[in-house]
Amino acid sequence: MLPTPFRNLIAVFSALPGIGPKMAERLVLYLFKQDARDIKKMITALEGLRALSRCTQCFNIAEGDLCIFCKDTQRDTTQICVVEEPLDLIPIERTGVFHGLYHILGGTLTPNTKTPTITIAPLLDRIQNNNVTEVILATNPTTDGDATALYIKSKLLPLGIRVSRLARGLTTGSDIEYVDDITIRNALQNREDLSQ
Ligand code: ZN
Repeated sequence: MLPTPFRNLIAVFSALPGIGPKMAERLVLYLFKQDARDIKKMITALEGLRALSRCTQCFNIAEGDLCIFCKDTQRDTTQICVVEEPLDLIPIERTGVFHGLYHILGGTLTPNTKTPTITIAPLLDRIQNNNVTEVILATNPTTDGDATALYIKSKLLPLGIRVSRLARGLTTGSDIEYVDDITIRNALQNREDLSQ
């Protein structure tokens, strides 16, 4: 019933997280009504996204080899805050309390997977090859986030560094990305020491 290019784009949008077929149809119709200049702007923005890469040190989004945090010589390189996804570091950064570096896991440990696909091995390498004294585990307070934090803690404690967990005050099941600034600041300042 609909022309092929229209259906193709609906399929592309439907594959995006949180977008169902009906919403995809509405989006494509909206785009169809836009003029050529707006469409060109969108294409340029998408191409810009393709030019980005992962930071070779912390796996954050980067323009070039290193992200803005790893490039910044003013950051405290003795502290690493471990988060699940790049967007999770934004609320932590906004508090102004944390001045260390980050490490992006790229998700959580999936049960039944023997070899972890998240970036735990590079994290251990970073700690062993740099002068890191504290790791703050800031995975989401969900079942998977907690299980991942526990697993990483078990790998870190033998290294003799301080390991803490950003947990106090965060509602179980919440996503750090959406937690308000004051709660995150409190959770950072009152972080629970797991090394004792
Ligand atoms: Zn980085």
